[in-house]
Amino acid sequence: MAGRAASIEPALMTPIPNQTSPVFSQPHLLGIEGLSVSDVLNLLTLAHNYVELSRHGEKKLSVLRGRTQINLFFEASTRTQSSFELAGKRLGADVMNMSVKSSSVSKGETLIDTAVTLNAMNPDLLVIRHASAGAAALLAQKVGCAVINAGDGAHEHPTQALLDALTIIRHKHRVEGLTVAICGDILHSRVARSNILLLQLLGASVRVVAPRPLLPAAIDRWGVQVFSRMEEGLKDCDIVMMLRLQLERMDGAFVPSVREYYRYFGLDEEKLAYAKPDALVMHPGPMNRGVEIASSVADGVQSVIREQVEMGVAVRMAVLDALARNRPVQAETPAPQGGEA
Ligand code: ASP
Repeated sequence: MAGRAASIEPALMTPIPNQTSPVFSQPHLLGIEGLSVSDVLNLLTLAHNYVELSRHGEKKLSVLRGRTQINLFFEASTRTQSSFELAGKRLGADVMNMSVKSSSVSKGETLIDTAVTLNAMNPDLLVIRHASAGAAALLAQKVGCAVINAGDGAHEHPTQALLDALTIIRHKHRVEGLTVAICGDILHSRVARSNILLLQLLGASVRVVAPRPLLPAAIDRWGVQVFSRMEEGLKDCDIVMMLRLQLERMDGAFVPSVREYYRYFGLDEEKLAYAKPDALVMHPGPMNRGVEIASSVADGVQSVIREQVEMGVAVRMAVLDALARNRPVQAETPAPQGGEA
């Protein structure tokens, strides 16, 4: 990270480049892994501009007019799906939410068949969430549009990491040199994986704090410091990022009891006092109050959890815009005949 200015916030203030200039070198956003610092900073700059526009200017833009965005969610989602929908609509796209329960998937169609069918409708942007790691990458090989990973199993959730970085930069003006403690269910968390990759890329030092059963076997190769006690892991850190216990991905009991877990790993005011006094408290949502976080901390003065949601819309606008710039507007071609859609 040598040579990079400590404060990167001023760089984010640059205006949105002209609508046709490319800002992102990749055809898809499948993960943080493999992204360059300049791709990340360009996305964050676009997102920062969209925060300001959404707060003070025109809410409805025409950047994606004539573009079709399909949100294909195979796993439940509140924040991510609604913010992708809002992001597309704010940019003027035609947005379709594909409900998996009402689709042919419930009649046995495979992920690939569904994708190929949707692809025949000529979307420009396909946002996918799926329970299997690698699902977004697989789709990207089968469709002709830009694919955005909105969470694939325990693998990656790149837009979450980007919105977390934007939230951090808007408060701390930099990422380089900060100490970030990611606490809780690291093993099942795509948020942890994407955040570790992005925070390290931008020069932060990352700690993970968790009971041993909730750590991946290969954690020693992730370049993070590992702690098993909150008091030690949180000591003097700048950011405390809490994670939900991902019960739906657990096969058996990973923690003795929720009460016990809260006692040792739940973030309350007493444990937070070990972090720096101006440390930020973050959580990707949905929160389990009284399990991984106390209400008084989630709603307290150090919490930026609600702001993360606002940054989520702006980051998703930036990602949709950036990927659309790399693709010419498609001409309509008729969908194939026959068969039930
Ligand atoms: N919303 C995040 C995700 O989709 C975190 C969570 O579900 O706990 O991974």
